[in-house]
Amino acid sequence: MGGERIVAYCGVVCNKCPAYIATQKNDDNMRRDIAKRWSEMYGSEIKPEYVNCDGCNTESERRIDFTNQCQIRLCGMAKDIPNCAFCDDYPCDKLDEIFKSNPTSKNTLDEIRDR
Ligand code: SF4
Ligand code: SF4
Repeated sequence: MGGERIVAYCGVVCNKCPAYIATQKNDDNMRRDIAKRWSEMYGSEIKPEYVNCDGCNTESERRIDFTNQCQIRLCGMAKDIPNCAFCDDYPCDKLDEIFKSNPTSKNTLDEIRDR
């Protein structure tokens, strides 16, 4: 898959996220699989219709619901930056949890900063 890489505020690469891929392909089978997996993972029912996302830092309104409550996203939006790599306070403690569960996202942001 070519094209530009979309990096979320927290360093997650959206293009690699199954929800993003299912949305771009408009693939309902994939949406059903993800919804099932996420329902098991989060212990509450997630419907396939819920799996629609163009990335959390784009103009698009198609986003997974819980992104609206994400403090990292709200903070990055308030600062009007593409992602946390562009922030003077990077890395702040809001990122601790996501860096622990997903170390690759830290590498992605560090790499952007080194450029
Ligand atoms: S909503 Fe928050 S945790 Fe999710 S990708 Fe965006 S910045 Fe990261
Ligand atoms: S303070 Fe900076 S690094 Fe921390 S969440 Fe906000 S934008 Fe990201």
